[in-house]
Amino acid sequence: MDKKTQHTEALKRVEQELKKCVKCGACRANCPAFSAFQREPAVARGKVALAQHILKGDIGLDDQTYLNMSKCLLCGSCVEKCPNEVPTDEIVIAAREALAEQRGLTTFHQAVGRVIKNRRMMTFGAFAASILGPLFFRKVPQTSGLRLRFPLPFIGNTRHIPGIARKPFLDRHPEVIPGEPGKPRIVFFVGCMTNFVYTEIGEAALALFRHLGCTVIIPKDQQCCGLPGMSGGDLQTVRELAERNLAALERHQADYVMTACATCGGALHKFYPAVVGRRNPELAARLKAIAEKTVDAAQLLQQLGLHPEETGAGEALRITYHDPCHLRTRAITRQPRELLTATPGVELAEMEGADRCCGLGGTFNVYHYGSSMAINEAKSRAIMASGASVVATGCPGCMMQLSDGLKQHGQKTRVMHTLELLARNLRR
Ligand code: SF4
Ligand code: SF4
Repeated sequence: MDKKTQHTEALKRVEQELKKCVKCGACRANCPAFSAFQREPAVARGKVALAQHILKGDIGLDDQTYLNMSKCLLCGSCVEKCPNEVPTDEIVIAAREALAEQRGLTTFHQAVGRVIKNRRMMTFGAFAASILGPLFFRKVPQTSGLRLRFPLPFIGNTRHIPGIARKPFLDRHPEVIPGEPGKPRIVFFVGCMTNFVYTEIGEAALALFRHLGCTVIIPKDQQCCGLPGMSGGDLQTVRELAERNLAALERHQADYVMTACATCGGALHKFYPAVVGRRNPELAARLKAIAEKTVDAAQLLQQLGLHPEETGAGEALRITYHDPCHLRTRAITRQPRELLTATPGVELAEMEGADRCCGLGGTFNVYHYGSSMAINEAKSRAIMASGASVVATGCPGCMMQLSDGLKQHGQKTRVMHTLELLARNLRR
């Protein structure tokens, strides 16, 4: 297949968006990929130019294009800075889809797609990992993290990895937990990291919304949001998961769809309508309706009038707060801070660059681990400089990355979800 006849349907869908770029370079300012690679193809302007040249047939969907398009964390910082609102994150997703259509999915993304589409396989795998963990991992002495005893494909053995929960959050509670009459009905979209790893986030969310008298519904048939597939261009898997999640969420008459994971919230609120809806107009109205109901847990707790002095009192802590990209780009920055500073015993010390990406970027962390940790370096140093003993955030993915970075520095700083701090009193 020559360059002119390559698979560019996915890119044609964003052709109008590409034309909005005036090449001003404002997107360079906070681009974590540019900070790591210092080359034009890493930044939004370069990616837009690459996409335009692919569409013209000037360059092919080849190894070099694949490498250039892989250098993006889909953080959305460029979209925030762009005067013309060029959706570079969506353009990169379209380019990755075009690359996957022409070249096939990578072995890693084939495996990711198979796993995230199969909740039973995930549950069984997580259970096996929780039992067999000691064979593969060793506890790191000075911290509570785990480190692989030997390198495994794609993840090596230098990372600090959180342990897997013995029992997933979704298996711990009934589907409907009734609240008080007249109080909001909330569907909880749990997300894989909370379900299998950080189950304490789910418990804290449940405790807080029950404290407010809400009915909490935890659909048993909810699935992975699909973002790990989206970042590899596997839009077929994302569509399938979006359809299944729509069915699971629509089954309940709820006032809100609540997420405690910034990435899942970003999927439901932004990427489902913008990316899946663009390709599947027959789903667009339903995706938009769910997006409009989707709220972050901290945002909703504040909206419903949570008084942190009733729920969060505990030992005195100096904390700092990291803004997850998928909350910051939805303007959810004030609410977690206001709730945390109203919590007795909590002193918030702002770190420098709290709004900068932590370097995870989904599968970016798998393909470019060295660069991912290089981006994280500034974040780790800022946390250390804040003098905080706890770093709070609103995304389990960021929690994993922040923990890894801090432990690489030999730090004992605890990484906690905002909800865990807000629910300290309720959970004791
Ligand atoms: S800020 Fe927007 S318009 Fe300017 S170069 Fe970047 S993508 Fe193009
Ligand atoms: S989404 Fe983030 S990493 Fe990707 S080009 Fe934009 S700012 Fe850079």
